[in-house]
Amino acid sequence: MLTRNLPDKQQCAFCSGDAILEEQDYNGICNVLVYYCSKCKNGFTTTESDTISVYRIQSAQWRIKRRIKRKEKINNILNEKKL
Ligand SMILES: [Zn+2]
Repeated sequence: MLTRNLPDKQQCAFCSGDAILEEQDYNGICNVLVYYCSKCKNGFTTTESDTISVYRIQSAQWRIKRRIKRKEKINNILNEKKL
């Protein structure tokens, strides 16, 4: 499941405000997804956003354990060295 399958905005679980999907740092290893209400400032997740967040955490931990980097990250490191 990909982030683009999630609504980037939905009704707040606490009030009638608009909650916006935000990326939030998780222990510096990846970003997780949380909806934050613009009115009451409370945060909440959904089954769908949790599914993506848990997948991200598990794959980040898997890579750290095996010292494996993602292709995008390797390309970024190589490009920085060229500068
Ligand atoms: Zn709210």
